[in-house]
Amino acid sequence: MRRNASELDKMRKAGKVVAEMHEATRAAIRPGITTMDLNKVAAEVIERRGARSNFLNYHGFPAVICTSPNDMIVHGIPGDYVLRDGDIISVDCGAIVEGYHGDAAYTAGVGEISATAKRLIEVTERSMYAGIDQLTIGNRLHEVGRAVQKVAEAAGFSVVREYVGHAIGTAMHESPQVPNYWPGNPGPVLKEGMVFAVEPMVNVGSFHTYVLEDGWGVMTQDGQLSAHFEHTIAVTANGPEIFTIA
Ligand code: MG
Ligand code: MG
Repeated sequence: MRRNASELDKMRKAGKVVAEMHEATRAAIRPGITTMDLNKVAAEVIERRGARSNFLNYHGFPAVICTSPNDMIVHGIPGDYVLRDGDIISVDCGAIVEGYHGDAAYTAGVGEISATAKRLIEVTERSMYAGIDQLTIGNRLHEVGRAVQKVAEAAGFSVVREYVGHAIGTAMHESPQVPNYWPGNPGPVLKEGMVFAVEPMVNVGSFHTYVLEDGWGVMTQDGQLSAHFEHTIAVTANGPEIFTIA
């Protein structure tokens, strides 16, 4: 779907709230705090900005952010997990302003992290930007996944297949999906005003996953680390415009 100027402006506002949730949670990350503490910090931003949460009650999800440590890929429920020195933590945030959605995620280290963890975070973020660079008028959507996959696999990592990015607007998850790998065909032609969430999940080991008994937390099957970065981006005449940055 293509969004007009006033819709894009609302999405820009939602993106700013999400960016502020990132800033606030990033500043709170340190050994000894719980993932529920991070949820509180994010909820305060939503409240302060008069926004609404798109995560809370989404298919029954009980929090305003997802917190996924170490070998958890995405969708972790905030709780009593205490962050430890050497952990990595993926934080996925979303907000609704005037009926329009923003959605973005990052992975951060807690205290001193391993060289592999550092490289995973750096490569995953870089793969996201390589994907975002493909969001230009006239290009094909699945070039995003091709670009993401190239960066991740060149580093010796793998790209998760079962979970993907998505179009976004008046709902958080709209069609079409945005794979983080080349799915075998070029996909839709990109047009001005389309908005997507590009969100690579990159694993140190294999891309295989399983879901925890809580029905939410998605884990790497081999127990190795995973990272996740995401932005909400519009296709514009001036190239990709990222909404979820400060
Ligand atoms: Mg998303
Ligand atoms: Mg997200």
